[in-house]
Amino acid sequence: MRLDRIIQQKSHDPYNDGRKYTEGMYCPRCQALYHQGRWRWPGKGDTFREPQLCSACKRIRDNFPAGEIRVSGKYLNSHRREIVNLIQNVVKEEEARSPLKKVIDFSNEGDRLRVSLTDDHLARRIGEALHRAYDGDLAIKYSEGERFVRLKWHRDV
Ligand SMILES: [Zn+2]
Repeated sequence: MRLDRIIQQKSHDPYNDGRKYTEGMYCPRCQALYHQGRWRWPGKGDTFREPQLCSACKRIRDNFPAGEIRVSGKYLNSHRREIVNLIQNVVKEEEARSPLKKVIDFSNEGDRLRVSLTDDHLARRIGEALHRAYDGDLAIKYSEGERFVRLKWHRDV
């Protein structure tokens, strides 16, 4: 019984509970607006009612990613700038579509890159873009019972 309860609590996503938000709430950190049941970028004539961190900015505040991608291999050393640019472009495009797609942390760990993200689909989009542009090996792993995806992209030569 206790185990069941723990698993249930784990699979509940506290950052994706739309019922907490109401029409016209806006995010004081990124200016996203809650409209018709979802967070989006504001447009002309929008009404801003009450400040409330959007679910992506809550994840950033708590350092609680929904996805992560790790880039490794010798190819990274010779193409670091290109690879970083590609990742940043994917993030820029995706974030322009939805305020919930953001980078939490972008870190260089020796000969690796690690990017943590507020959105699992964004992590997948980055992995797929790397694979499409540079081939290499892409591994995708969803954690059981949690909405978290970890991708690893690796290329040596
Ligand atoms: Zn926000």
